Amino acid sequence: MKKTLVLFAFLLCGIAFTGKAQTVYASDKGEKYHTADCKLSGDAKDLKLGEAKKLGKTACGVCKPDEHLKDKTSQCTGKTADGTRCKRMTASPKGKCFQHKGA
Ligand SMILES: [Zn+2]
Ligand SMILES: [Zn+2]
Repeated sequence: MKKTLVLFAFLLCGIAFTGKAQTVYASDKGEKYHTADCKLSGDAKDLKLGEAKKLGKTACGVCKPDEHLKDKTSQCTGKTADGTRCKRMTASPKGKCFQHKGA
């Protein structure tokens, strides 16, 4: 019984950790990666922070993703035009990114 509980707790931790993978935004040609809320993220695609660093991108000096990412804890609850859930992360108490008028 105890073993099952430990395993269960371990699985939960694993899920929580995966969910916390930090997402940044960068365009293919851009040298910088941005937070979801940055004005300069423009046509940027979302990617994992680790991937952005692997591609040689550096943190944007305007939105300072390294400082702010840790605050962006929840995924936007808004919907995109095609009906899927918005992938941007937000620290807004409304739970919505700037595009969905959360900030
Ligand atoms: Zn930026
Ligand atoms: Zn959104």
